[in-house]
Amino acid sequence: MHTSPRLNLDSLKRCPLCEAVSAESSPSCFVCGWEGAFDRDAEDVQASFDALIEQCPELWHLVTAPKPRGFRAWVRKVFRSEGR
Ligand SMILES: [Zn+2]
Repeated sequence: MHTSPRLNLDSLKRCPLCEAVSAESSPSCFVCGWEGAFDRDAEDVQASFDALIEQCPELWHLVTAPKPRGFRAWVRKVFRSEGR
């Protein structure tokens, strides 16, 4: 078990289609583009987030960096390096 500090999950939501976590402020899922209702159950969001971190541990470094630019910034960074 890794020790994942609790994030402020209030600012996150989970896509019901692809289970990606998105920022609350973003209108649609950044993975699949879903724009409907999102899951906001704290345990589900945390679980998805943990799974994401397990797949890509460097994300953790990004979100725990001393001066995080916020969730949207790291999402952009991650998908720029991973996507294309
Ligand atoms: Zn999605």
